[in-house]
Amino acid sequence: MAMQGEADPIIKYFGLKEIAFHNPVRVFANEDQSLILSLNGTDAKHKVDNIGTQAATLNAHIVIQNYKPDLIINCGTAGGFISKGGKIGDVYIATEKICFHDRRIDLPGGFKAYAKGNFPCINSDELAAKTQLKQGIISSSDALDFTETDTKIMQENNASVKEMEAAAIAWVCEINQVPFTAIKAITDIVDGPHATGEEFLKNFEMASFALKEKMLEILNFLLVK
Ligand code: SAH
Repeated sequence: MAMQGEADPIIKYFGLKEIAFHNPVRVFANEDQSLILSLNGTDAKHKVDNIGTQAATLNAHIVIQNYKPDLIINCGTAGGFISKGGKIGDVYIATEKICFHDRRIDLPGGFKAYAKGNFPCINSDELAAKTQLKQGIISSSDALDFTETDTKIMQENNASVKEMEAAAIAWVCEINQVPFTAIKAITDIVDGPHATGEEFLKNFEMASFALKEKMLEILNFLLVK
C-alpha cells in the first residue's frame, strides 16, 4: 500500500503489528504472518507518504524477497471515470492487464510496447462476483493530474481506474512470477467537473473505509477457499 491513511483502517481492523522496517518500507503482519501489509513509508525530507511507482517497485521487491507471498494485492485509492460508469466510493478489482499512461518511447523495436506495460493480473471474475466488486482496467502514472496525451493513452488502454502504483508492482510480480491483483476505491472522478486534489481529500476517508470493508470480504473469501 502507498498511503498511511489508506492502510490505517486495515491495520486496525486486523490488529496488525509492525514487524520490520526495510528503509523506507514498513511491514505489518498478523500473528501467524499469513497476512502481510507492506507500506511504502514516508519521505523523511518532505514528511509525506512515498506515493508513486518508484516506492511501489521497491516495496514489491522487498516483500517478494523477504516474505515469499502467494499473492500480492495492491490496495489503495484511485480516480474513476464517469464515461466508464464509475462513482465515488466504488471499489474496483483489476481485470485483463495493468498499464502505464505516462511512458512514451517512440523508438523502433519493442520499446513502444514496453512503455505501455500491459502486465498480467489474476482472473478476477469469481472474486468480483462473490464480493460485488466492479472490474476495470487499471492505468498508472506518476502524476495525480494528467495531460492530453495521458488521456489519449488511458482511452487506448480502455482504463476505468487511474492511480499511481499498480503497474509498477505488477511488473515486479511478473518478473518474479508472483500472482498479482489490485483493489482500488474511487476518491475522485477523472472526467468530472471537480479538481482532482480537492475531491481526493474530501473523499479519502470514506473511500479508505470502503476499501477496508471490501478487503475483509476478499480476504475472508481467499482464506476460506
Ligand atoms: N494530495 C494527496 C496526495 C494523494 S496522491 C495528499 O496530500 O494526501 C494520490 C494517491 O492516491 C496515489 O497513491 C494514487 O495511487 C491514488 N490516487 C487517487 N486518485 C488518483 C487520481 N485521480 N490519479 C492518480 N492517483 C490517484
